[in-house]
Amino acid sequence: IKVEPYRPQAFIDFTLQANVDAYQAALAKVRAELLGKHYPLVINGERVDTAEKLYSTNPCDTSEVVGSTAKATVEDAQRALDGAWVAWAEWKTWSMDARARILLKAAAILKRRRLEACALMTLEVGKNYAEADVEVAEGIDFLEYYAREAMKYSGFGAAETTWFDGEENGLMSIPLGVGVSISPWNFPYAIFVGMLAAPIVAGNCVIAKPAEDSGMIAGFVVDVLIEAGMPAGVLQFLPGVGEEVGEYLVQHAKTRFITFTGSRSVGLHINVAAAKVQPGQKWLKRVIMELGGKDALIVDETADLPNAVTAAVQGAFGFNGQKCSAMSRLVVVDSVYDEVVNAFVERTKALTIGTGEANCNVTAVVNQESFDKIGQYQQIGKGEATLLTGGETPGECGGKTGHYVQPTIFGDVPQDARIAQEEIFGPVVSVFRARDFQHALDLANSTEYGLTGGVCSRNRARLEQARAEFEVGNLYFNRKITGAIVGVQPFGGYNMSGTDSKAGGPEYLGNFLQFKAVTERF
Ligand code: GLU
Repeated sequence: IKVEPYRPQAFIDFTLQANVDAYQAALAKVRAELLGKHYPLVINGERVDTAEKLYSTNPCDTSEVVGSTAKATVEDAQRALDGAWVAWAEWKTWSMDARARILLKAAAILKRRRLEACALMTLEVGKNYAEADVEVAEGIDFLEYYAREAMKYSGFGAAETTWFDGEENGLMSIPLGVGVSISPWNFPYAIFVGMLAAPIVAGNCVIAKPAEDSGMIAGFVVDVLIEAGMPAGVLQFLPGVGEEVGEYLVQHAKTRFITFTGSRSVGLHINVAAAKVQPGQKWLKRVIMELGGKDALIVDETADLPNAVTAAVQGAFGFNGQKCSAMSRLVVVDSVYDEVVNAFVERTKALTIGTGEANCNVTAVVNQESFDKIGQYQQIGKGEATLLTGGETPGECGGKTGHYVQPTIFGDVPQDARIAQEEIFGPVVSVFRARDFQHALDLANSTEYGLTGGVCSRNRARLEQARAEFEVGNLYFNRKITGAIVGVQPFGGYNMSGTDSKAGGPEYLGNFLQFKAVTERF
């Protein structure tokens, strides 16, 4: 297969009015064509409807139903699993080239429909223009990148082994079989497509269960993959409730692997459930997990302080802090604490709050459960630390009822406070005062998570110390700590943040392959 070297998609510049106009035209098109649309299940290439539905509502205007998906039952899950194993018998024999072409064709279609996908996410999960665009770029990047990565495993002995006289040796790479991909609502396009494209291009079949809040954009992506030539049964689309069909598939003896991105508590549950061997099961299930974060940015007295404040605002409040990579802790060295924190609070107060459609900086959080949880943490924070800004959940904005919460900052937070340790997954930041850089690094490392982290400093020795000692999977210096780019910053965390499987990295496809070393003596 002939492809140009991988390069990430460029982002759209929304400081140009022409691009804003194009986005608004896409919103009008999506309102006219996709609003109210229903996405059935896809099992063995057929669209299957169910008695019950899952509805998507606009978080920024909860009176608006955006559309719906089918709601799979365990019987549907069983049929999807059986059908995927049937499809696998042939899919595993396809060449890497042939499988990769489907991803490349899907990427080409998704590039043409870029703004439409963005607009749908604006309505379904409340992303503003840049957040939606960056995500769509990432989804296309996953397809382009994994299509190329698959070539590394093309043919016998493609992986490096050492020569041994008198023998031919090589490593065969073998797909695992059928797995289930359980993906989150916060990157309902990019992570959804990445978590199914990687195992599929490696020769596996996948049952893709999107998050309950974001089934429509997942359905949109599935339609494109089918248009690109995905054979029946290779990708089964199974929107449903996690505790029902997700649980059923995780426990099932015929499930070979589980790839999950979501909360720590659900991830730990899946880990235990998947470890239990069921009657008739003949493998150890492979589990790939991306869980939560309590990510810290350190600012020391040598830093470019305005740059550090920009990094803090972007990292904390992009998509309302609803990223596992979001900066939820800011650790500032005492001598610049007041200056940094005052500027951070002022910049936060200037953020616009409103709908994704109006392209506000901060929009409504995804659902009632998140809204309630964030509100509770705001109250907990008021008892544990000093509220510097925000702290309320108005639940409406500009005459629209929605899950609106104020961007919130707490100062002088003690290290062992709940708001210092627990993932809130919303626009709530805890600020810590550090005596010196070493204390700052100790504070940053004082949670059980280890996903992203950052240091703003001009001190070379400290940057080198952080490079060695900051316990995170993704470490950033002198910039924001979100927004990993496929192929550029392989993404994934340590400790309770996951299995460090590094999505968008050169080892990622190996998660979905097993290897056989074959030796022939001549
Ligand atoms: N990869 C995203 C980033 O670097 C975060 C993914 C997530 O929140 O699940 O910001």
